[in-house]
Amino acid sequence: MDPKDEIKQKLDILDLVSEYVVLKPSGSTGFKGLCPFHSEKSPSFHVSQDRQNWHCFGCNDGGDCFSFVMKMEGMTFPEALMHLGKKVGVEVRRLPTAETNTRSRMLQANDLAQKFYRKVLIESTKASLARSYVETRQIPFELAERFGIGYATDDWDTLSQFLLKQSFSEGELVQAGLSMRRKQGTGVIDRFRHRLMIPLRDHHGNTVGFTGRSMPGDEQGPKYMNSPETPVYSKSHLLFGLDLAKRPTRDAGFIVIVEGNLDVVASHKAGIENIVASSGTAFTQEQLELLKRYTSTIVFAFDSDAAGLKAAKKGMSLARALEFDIRAAILPEGVKDPDELVQTNPDLWKSLVEHSVPIMQFLIAHTTRGRDLKQIDDKRAVARELLPALGEMSSVVEREHWLQVVADLLQISADQLRPSISTSSTSTTSSTSTTSSTSATSLTKSEKARRLLLGYIVKTPDAFDTFRKRLEKAFQGEELWITLYKLAADTYDSGSQPAQKTYFSRIQDLISGHPQQASLFALLDTSMFMADETFQDLPPQKVLEHIDQLFCMLDEEFTSQKRVVLARELRQAEATGDSATISALMSQLNE
Ligand SMILES: [Zn+2]
Repeated sequence: MDPKDEIKQKLDILDLVSEYVVLKPSGSTGFKGLCPFHSEKSPSFHVSQDRQNWHCFGCNDGGDCFSFVMKMEGMTFPEALMHLGKKVGVEVRRLPTAETNTRSRMLQANDLAQKFYRKVLIESTKASLARSYVETRQIPFELAERFGIGYATDDWDTLSQFLLKQSFSEGELVQAGLSMRRKQGTGVIDRFRHRLMIPLRDHHGNTVGFTGRSMPGDEQGPKYMNSPETPVYSKSHLLFGLDLAKRPTRDAGFIVIVEGNLDVVASHKAGIENIVASSGTAFTQEQLELLKRYTSTIVFAFDSDAAGLKAAKKGMSLARALEFDIRAAILPEGVKDPDELVQTNPDLWKSLVEHSVPIMQFLIAHTTRGRDLKQIDDKRAVARELLPALGEMSSVVEREHWLQVVADLLQISADQLRPSISTSSTSTTSSTSTTSSTSATSLTKSEKARRLLLGYIVKTPDAFDTFRKRLEKAFQGEELWITLYKLAADTYDSGSQPAQKTYFSRIQDLISGHPQQASLFALLDTSMFMADETFQDLPPQKVLEHIDQLFCMLDEEFTSQKRVVLARELRQAEATGDSATISALMSQLNE
């Protein structure tokens, strides 16, 4: 069997989509949830378990499991095939392109390195210092295992030698960021030496690089050293811990953002798994877009003197533009990071995360601290710091709320303050999410009626013969509809073989390969989901009444269109004095 078909047979689209979207039952066999591809408040994203496909009425987009992961994970079709194949245990032969080859070699090398470092930490006699360091950091075995933590010994080239024996070339090891060329002579040496090794994994769980933490007492080199950028590791795209945070984030409805990778590890011990680290770098657009797939609420963690605030501000602006709800969890005074707090009071850290405050509340408290708001200079300074944040808020309600709070604080009226807020900068980046929700509702009545009729008949093929005449009439006029109806009718007429296939999937078979297959598939899909929506809760008698109304509506529309055409022809005939045509047209009009 073709791997594509085999994957489709083994995979349930409901399981797949549920990894990213909270779905609730809708009707007898359908599910719906908030669309992961556009921003919305009420769910217009539908999944059908019967048909194994999805459709969003907001972005008017839909498809099968492959199109879903392609869109969700930004993958090409071959990548989606590999990804889903791995999920359900279907072997997909690797594509022999140079690029995918390099990528997979880099991933293999990093994966082997991770296993090597891990084994060294657990077993090697040279790792006793590292083992006791892990112990003092209170990282239990299970936790170290979950994050794949290991140790690079103080030797020059143990990892390099190991990987060279596994048929990797020196060039590949350098390219993977694991080895460096010797400055003198030939050969390679290990990049990481005498460091605790924390694997950096992408959101699929592939090891793409490492953070090496220096050992206590070792002052050589930086405290944290990361892999260089490689074909598989990009600093600006990676969020540490996201591979483990996806499901917990969906369950909790928010994600916590901390600075250090070890803060993430420690938080897991406190039971907080919906957490990621930006690995000490400023937050990027790419990272936030990645997060947006899983949640719309982010909680930044700050120490109480907010040393990290400055770095986080750029990230906050980006997050506001992407319409995130931003909150803050504030560490108690004197505690420098979540890692430290977990060692002394894990429950407190948990409670701070659960009781996060709106970011503005935190910014106001932080900005006004130690300032005298009766003094004009202090007032001005506070305004200068807070107004840009107000300007970035895309929600008018939210902006007005905080504007009032700030105005009260500065003891001036909100009306006086409002003109100083510039709101122009936010509207550009988020425009895609606000304009896309109209496409499905902007369908004309007759376009909607045709979709419902087609959806109905595909769901209820037994009614085909009863309605055949009316259906033919309903789908006349437009080429794409004529084609789709004809395919549906042909499928029906060719009988219900093979028996294990539904009428719907037999129509799909006929469509595939058609020159207009993309448009036809899209039209069929929307029709099915619209029919689900409209008919699923109605008793059969009501459905039939509804169908009858749709036919009547289309009939009337055709009649009135025809009347317009006849009237125009009649006027032309009258102008030329063609009496025979006039009387023929008159009788047609009366009819
Ligand atoms: Zn959508």
